[in-house]
Amino acid sequence: MIHINENYQKLQASYLFANIAKRVREYQDENPGRELIRMGIGDVTQPLPEACVTAMHKAVDELTRAETFRGYGPEQGYDFLREAIAKHDFQARGADIAADEVFVSDGAKCDTGNIQELFAGDIRVAIPDPVYPVYVDTNVMAGRTGAPQDGRYPGLVYLECTPANGYVPALPTQPVDLIYLCFPNNPTGATITRAQLKTWVDYARTNKALILYDAAYEAFIRDPELPHSIYEIEGAQDVAIEFRSFSKTAGFTGVRCAYAVVPKRCMAYTTGGAAVSVRDLWSRRHTTKFNGVSYPVQRAAEAVFSPEGSRQVRGLIDHYLTNAAYVRQAFQRMGFECVGGDNSPYIWVRSERDSWGFFDFLLKEAGVVCTPGAGFGRCGENHIRISAFNSFENVQKAMQRIADALKK
Ligand SMILES: *Cc1c(COP(=O)(O)O)cnc(C)c1O
Repeated sequence: MIHINENYQKLQASYLFANIAKRVREYQDENPGRELIRMGIGDVTQPLPEACVTAMHKAVDELTRAETFRGYGPEQGYDFLREAIAKHDFQARGADIAADEVFVSDGAKCDTGNIQELFAGDIRVAIPDPVYPVYVDTNVMAGRTGAPQDGRYPGLVYLECTPANGYVPALPTQPVDLIYLCFPNNPTGATITRAQLKTWVDYARTNKALILYDAAYEAFIRDPELPHSIYEIEGAQDVAIEFRSFSKTAGFTGVRCAYAVVPKRCMAYTTGGAAVSVRDLWSRRHTTKFNGVSYPVQRAAEAVFSPEGSRQVRGLIDHYLTNAAYVRQAFQRMGFECVGGDNSPYIWVRSERDSWGFFDFLLKEAGVVCTPGAGFGRCGENHIRISAFNSFENVQKAMQRIADALKK
């Protein structure tokens, strides 16, 4: 008899987006003339940068001629892209990352989900709350937790991100081996300072732990004091893996290209205590289970680093940051406490109301759709996430409607 991996039965169905869709549908059935503004979107809305499109077209043309045709490429990514990434995203910021420490993939979702395969089943895992759900669910699938109780999985250590700590978690009070961090954060939009990040790197070094640093929103950082990469922190190469993506940076959510950085110095240990190169383990996994990102897509990603490409990407992000600043200021004027929205496309708004109650109020009284914070974890209660992925006109209209609804 074929048996299933019963860990999958521990997974909690994600009702978040289904529940949002249901409430929106019911409201629209009752109010057919009302036009809704969707501020819950976690996907980019602007088209691809011109430089990327040109590079992709050219690459497709190369594939049409026998002399320039390419079949399978290197699983880890073409050297032209790995070298551009190492040079522009790391070496230019003083982080000594080499091209052979960069692994190109089709998404940071897959990378952050797959990486846990390299580690033992009984490691202690620390995960932020609220959180991007991939980190939690992939550890549940791998059997590192019990069945959920009151919405939390026994076996995980939850790193609470609250107004009291400015949505940057404190170091765990119990020992942990694998730590997920994401800055600028989804869903909160919070950022981490160099000094704060250094405490995590020092913790990992002292405890021989490993940090998984998700920097998918790195391109939104404008504050010159904030670290773009964990490798700007001394000693991080021994204890951290960083994930980046072209999705939010350059509008590649549908094109698909991302990368993981696994430094050669990064080590994990056998039960006997012998150090093993995590880079070599990831290389083995990646080349065994993945056959590379398509050539035209890697050329399009390379174009992000060209002078025109980087100018266009900056323009793209500026558009979203203008929206985000507008949203944040509008909510603050209305008397709400907020985080995010300055180095992030997300604004995390705190409210006295429970998060689904606030969601319903904005839907029914303002015709605005947001994302209720409770959908991202227990600490998301009393918060909503507003996304800046929209047109400026819609953002202005939505904020006016919310201000009017609150005055009623
Ligand atoms: C959008 C996002 C990603 C990127 O995922 P891709 O698979 O590269 O599109 C990774 N992490 C977080 C937290 C995200 O919000």
